[in-house]
Amino acid sequence: MEKIERTIIVDLLKRTDYGQKVNVKGWVRTRRGNKNVNFIALNDGSTINNVQIVVDVAKFSDETLKPITTGASLSVNGTLVQSMGKGQTVEIQADEILVYGTADVETYPLQKKGHTLEYLREIAHLRLRTNTFGAVFRVRHNMAMAIHTYFHERGYFYFHTPLITGSDCEGAGQMFQVTTKNLYNLKKDDAGKIDYSDDFFGKSVSLTVSGQLEGELAATSLGKIYTFGPTFRAENSNTPRHLAEFWMIEPEVAFNELEDNMTLAQDFIQYCVRWALEKCTDDIEFLAKMYDNDLIERLKFVVDNDFKRLTYTEGIEILKEAIKNGHKFEFPVDWGTDLQSEHERYLVEEYFKRPVILIDYPKEIKSFYMKQNDDGKTVRAMDVLFPKIGEIIGGSEREENYDKLAERAKAMGVPDKDIWWYLDTRRFGTVPHSGFGLGFERLMLFVTGMQNIRDVIPFPRTPNNCEF
Ligand code: ATP
Ligand code: MN
Repeated sequence: MEKIERTIIVDLLKRTDYGQKVNVKGWVRTRRGNKNVNFIALNDGSTINNVQIVVDVAKFSDETLKPITTGASLSVNGTLVQSMGKGQTVEIQADEILVYGTADVETYPLQKKGHTLEYLREIAHLRLRTNTFGAVFRVRHNMAMAIHTYFHERGYFYFHTPLITGSDCEGAGQMFQVTTKNLYNLKKDDAGKIDYSDDFFGKSVSLTVSGQLEGELAATSLGKIYTFGPTFRAENSNTPRHLAEFWMIEPEVAFNELEDNMTLAQDFIQYCVRWALEKCTDDIEFLAKMYDNDLIERLKFVVDNDFKRLTYTEGIEILKEAIKNGHKFEFPVDWGTDLQSEHERYLVEEYFKRPVILIDYPKEIKSFYMKQNDDGKTVRAMDVLFPKIGEIIGGSEREENYDKLAERAKAMGVPDKDIWWYLDTRRFGTVPHSGFGLGFERLMLFVTGMQNIRDVIPFPRTPNNCEF
C-alpha cells in the first residue's frame, strides 16, 4: 500500500482541497451498495461523523471487499472528492484498501443498531465504539479541559492531594480500607480488635473520600487551588447518581466568604456548560436527538440565568407550604433533617424552575469544619441543586476559629490524632476561606442528558460490579 500521511476524520471533513490523495484509518460502521458501487461509512473516533468511502467494485478483488463488515478496521487510500450525496460535503474515492482486522458478522456484539444502555454496560469494553459512548467520552474530555482552563486562567494552582489517607474528613463509615495484611490470618489484640501495627503503614488507612482537608492546607499557603482527581466512597445504595469511584473537582480559596463561594460555583458551572455548547456541538446535538430533546434548551437556560440563592430554613418553609397545598412527598419535611432528592427537585424543577443554591444548613447534618453562624444552630454550608440531578455541588465557608473548630471536631467524634495538622492552619495565620466539591460525573450527567451515572464514566464501579 502506498504510504500517504493519515488525516483524522474530524479534520478531513473540513477539507476542500478536492483531488488530493488522502489516507484515513478507522472502523467500519456500515457498508451498503450494489454490485457496481459500495459505500463504506468509516469512523475513527475523532468525531461523531463518519466519512463515506466510495468503492468502485470493479477495481477491487472479492477477497479485499468480503471482510469489510461492520466493526472491521481499515486503512484507505483514495482521492478526496466533493460529495453529491446529502449529509456530507466530502467523501473519498477509494484507490487502495487494507483490512487490519475483521469483525465476525456472527459474533461481533455491535452488529445491529439499537442496543439498550443496560446491555451496553455489560460490554463496556466495546461500547466505546458506539456513537453514544464516543459522544459521551469526547464530551468528558472536553469538560476536563474546560475545568483546567477555567482555573488556570484565573490564577488557581492544580494541587494533588493523596489518594491513600489516614484520616476521614466526613466521619467514618463509607471508606474503603487499604491493607497488605493477610485477611485470612489477622493479628488481633486481647479485646479482639485488629492490630495494624504490622500493616504496611503501621496503622489503619483508607482510600480518600475527598481531598478537601489537604486542599485547605494548600489554599492557606498558595492562595487559590483546585484538586481534580478520583475519590472513593463505599456507598451501599444503588442509585443512578452514585458511584463507588468517582472524580471530584475541589476548589479552595483563601479569603473567600460564602457569597464568593456561591459566585464562583455559578460562574464555574456556567463556563463548563458554555464550553460544551460551543465546542461539543455535534456530540451534544446527537445526544439530544437520541436521549433528551430538551437538553440544549436546558443547557442554554443554565448559562443565561442566575442560580436562586436561599437558606435551608426558607427552603423548608416552601416545602411545608407545598405539603399544605396538597403536594405529596415520600419522605417527611422537618427542620433539622437532610433534604431528600425529591425535595431538592421540587425546589429546582417545580418551584423556582432554575438551579438553586441552598445555604445555612443545621449544623448537626453537616461536617465539623463548616463555619458556624451566630445563631448557634446553622453553619455556612451551601449545596448547589440542579434539575434532574439534585445535588451537584456541596461546599461551605470553613470555620477559621481554632476553638470553635476543635470543639465541633470533638463533638462529632473526629479524633485529634487524625487532624492535628489540619487544626494547625487555624493556630498559625488563620484566614477566612471557602471551597466546594463538584462531582465530575454529576456535571457529565447534566451536560450529556444521560440518565444513569454508569453511562458517563468509562468503567463504572458500583456495588457488586467491578468488571473491566
Ligand atoms: P449525595 O447527598 O448526593 O450523596 P454528598 O452530600 O454525600 O452527596 P459531598 O460529600 O457533598 O456529597 O460531595 C461533593 C459532591 O460530590 C456532591 O455534590 C456530588 O456532586 C459528588 N458526589 C458525592 N458522592 C458521590 C458518589 N457516590 N458518586 C458520584 N458523585 C458523588
Ligand atoms: Mn453534599
